[in-house]
Amino acid sequence: MAGVSRLQYATDIRLVRVMCSGRVDLEFVLRAFSNGMDGVFIGGCRLNECNYITHGNFDALNMVLLCKKIMEHIGLNPERLRIEFMTSGEGNLFTEVVDEFSKTVKNLGPLGKGEEIDEDELKSKLEEIRRLVPYIKIEKRKKLASHLENKEEWEGFFTRDEIDTLLGEVVSYHIDPDKCQACMICFRRCPVEAIEGGKNKIHVIDQDKCIKCGTCYEVCPPRFGAVNKISGAPVPPPVPEEERTIVRKVKAK
Ligand code: SF4
Ligand code: SF4
Repeated sequence: MAGVSRLQYATDIRLVRVMCSGRVDLEFVLRAFSNGMDGVFIGGCRLNECNYITHGNFDALNMVLLCKKIMEHIGLNPERLRIEFMTSGEGNLFTEVVDEFSKTVKNLGPLGKGEEIDEDELKSKLEEIRRLVPYIKIEKRKKLASHLENKEEWEGFFTRDEIDTLLGEVVSYHIDPDKCQACMICFRRCPVEAIEGGKNKIHVIDQDKCIKCGTCYEVCPPRFGAVNKISGAPVPPPVPEEERTIVRKVKAK
């Protein structure tokens, strides 16, 4: 309505339309910051007034609450991210909120500079967090599916300690070369092709590609139990390529 009613609002905001605020993924917000945006504003329909059964605005709210704590973890001011709920007819409210948010972000200064974080350091922190988005979403999936009806529940839903622990104890997955039987199940199921393997080859996880989704850990047959979940310890180096062939014993007739 704001545009149709010719209402004026801050010109430094760029609108990206999505079908539902629930479509705004944590990765999108972090990518916006990686691309140098100083603030991200998400406008969603009023809670409990969703036209669909999905109520995606609750998902958007949970994502924002989580992202604000992640921002604190990497040293960014969480006020650079804001979500507001309004109907499409509330053009006045939209312009009011956008103007106010634009002013807040201007006062905070350019991303990182306002927080006195070195540009390269911020870039690498954001890149690292973006790589961990699937892991974060898996670890926090139950909370991310919550419906927080009361505003009082928002504050403290995710805590700084919780996020510091989550990101400080990131797990890694490693295939035990002595147990891997090259059944190739993990190889086929890995969503990002992070597992190197083949017929009769000990499988190896490429740690740079791994998004820590845990699928390989779940699908490796229990009788092999070859995938280990590692936390707080270094991942053993990969088996050299030339030592990956599995030599199977032939049963004596
Ligand atoms: S945890 Fe396993 S399945 Fe998931 S991305 Fe990493 S290697 Fe692939
Ligand atoms: S599922 Fe387990 S046994 Fe099969 S290839 Fe992967 S790690 Fe090896």
